[in-house]
Amino acid sequence: MRAIQNQNKSQMFLIDSHAHFDDVQFDVDRTLALQRAHAAGVQAQVLPAVTADSWPKLKHVCQQYSGLFPAYGLHPIFLATHQIQHLQTLDEWLQREPAVAVGECGLDFYLTDLNPEQQTDYFMAQLRLAQNHQLPVIIHARRSVDAVLKCLRQVKGLTGVVHSFVGSEQQAQQLIDLGFYLSLGGPITYPRAQRLHRLVATLPLERLLLETDAPDQPLCGRQGQRNEPAYLAEVLQQFAQLRQQSATEIAEITSRNAITLFNLPLTQC
Ligand SMILES: [Zn+2]
Repeated sequence: MRAIQNQNKSQMFLIDSHAHFDDVQFDVDRTLALQRAHAAGVQAQVLPAVTADSWPKLKHVCQQYSGLFPAYGLHPIFLATHQIQHLQTLDEWLQREPAVAVGECGLDFYLTDLNPEQQTDYFMAQLRLAQNHQLPVIIHARRSVDAVLKCLRQVKGLTGVVHSFVGSEQQAQQLIDLGFYLSLGGPITYPRAQRLHRLVATLPLERLLLETDAPDQPLCGRQGQRNEPAYLAEVLQQFAQLRQQSATEIAEITSRNAITLFNLPLTQC
């Protein structure tokens, strides 16, 4: 992982704090998609893992290009694929491989075929791994923010981000009080997402990150299409509009947040 400096001061310095850029959907044009991201000012990406099987490719993709940083974990949606021994493998992997976070992990209570107790076991185990390895956690919390908060309160000294946050202002505040960040992306570009709009407008910028969740969660106007990190610039514009704040300032602060949280070897100047 080498340090990158942004030479062009007039260009935005954006960090996509959550992109599945290792996904098979980018196999056909990953280099071009990365060029488009750079052209849009997206200089770095954090790539969370989904299953144990995905770690070697994720590692390879992050080694292939500069500005891509891996996180390793077991995503709750893929519960059926996970095995208890994967937690041991994850522990060993984190001892060996550079990583900026543990994740993507968490709880998904929206999909009804995922056993909540099993999900909680995997989540708690990954929180403890994050604590032991002194890494932040990247959390997926769908219809589960209160349960996630309950888990987080059981493990001391954690930090991290709840990605694609959908919850109340009170829940957001509780996460912030625990030292967590919230990241927001494509869903905020939809006109009907008024609750999210309010959150973007009112939450402290020092606790927010930008994300695309590419190739998932397409932006408004691109439903049904592959999402990609280049579109983070549009998420930024929506932030600017909702907060009535300059895009430059928002880019600067949210990128600094990502650098701080994930301890990224980047300079913003
Ligand atoms: Zn994700």
